[in-house]
Amino acid sequence: MNYVYGPVPSRRLGQSLGVDPIPFKICNYNCVYCQLGRTTPLTNERRDFFPREGILAQVRDALERHQPGQIDYVTFIGQGEPTLCASLGWLIRQVKALTDVPVAVLTNGALLFQPQVREELAAADLVMPTLDAANHETFRQINRPWPRFRIAEIIEGMAAFRRMFKGQLWVEVMLVKGLNDDEATLLGIRDALAHVCPDRVQINVPIRPPVEPWVEIPDDEAIERATAILGEAAEVVAPYEGSFDFSGFADVAEAILAIIRRHPMRQRRLVETLEGWAPGEVEETLARLESSGQAQKRVYRSELFWEYAGRVFGEGRVHCES
Ligand code: SF4
Repeated sequence: MNYVYGPVPSRRLGQSLGVDPIPFKICNYNCVYCQLGRTTPLTNERRDFFPREGILAQVRDALERHQPGQIDYVTFIGQGEPTLCASLGWLIRQVKALTDVPVAVLTNGALLFQPQVREELAAADLVMPTLDAANHETFRQINRPWPRFRIAEIIEGMAAFRRMFKGQLWVEVMLVKGLNDDEATLLGIRDALAHVCPDRVQINVPIRPPVEPWVEIPDDEAIERATAILGEAAEVVAPYEGSFDFSGFADVAEAILAIIRRHPMRQRRLVETLEGWAPGEVEETLARLESSGQAQKRVYRSELFWEYAGRVFGEGRVHCES
């Protein structure tokens, strides 16, 4: 079982060594823009899904295989929500003891209302929660969360974390056309952000195929409106085209699956990234993975993407449970 991958280029973190402490699509949200497919079913139980010593051993190996400067962050990210790993705090502290490379956690931030989760994440250098809405109805429409979650409580949890956390707090706002890009919704998010007081606010848009086919990127005017309303600290995250490191992979199929399990990828970019393999090998392997049911293609915004075939994609609107 591979718990560690990369380093891979991250739009926000440079070269990021990814650590997956949870299985595929274990999450307490079911976001309409998720690149990993629908969450079936929602999970909100914190537990150890894998032996934590095994995860740590792979991080140690990866750090030993790379020179200083080749990794910008060790990033707990997961193929779902990493705070659902009960040993996340232990893992962060152990990795901090191994290396000076900063540790980041990418999270939906929902469990920050729990003091235990705040304590655990406080050991990291950078925490990156998501806040797509400040009112409960929009929160339900976009994030389709665990039914008992309340956005007001989650915002309070982020603010409480900010007060105790000495590291960097970067909040991501994912904009979805027609759901959270209008002025009133953005003003609500601005007020919530002013309460949380993050170091940085990053505006993002669904650039990869979203789980729900009706999800659209807001138009330029809406992105400009969001940038203006969310304040001078807001920045639009640009696609980052860095280099992938696949030295740990024995064959091209394994490398392709390692990428597309984490997010869909453009065919053109896959071929460029894996150019070290024999000419035509990537295309042949993709065809083989498709016929064996491990990968599937999807056209999104006129570009051909490859994605992991284990995903459940929507055909119509899903209604929230609460
Ligand atoms: S985008 Fe993140 S938080 Fe939302 S459903 Fe997907 S994995 Fe969960």
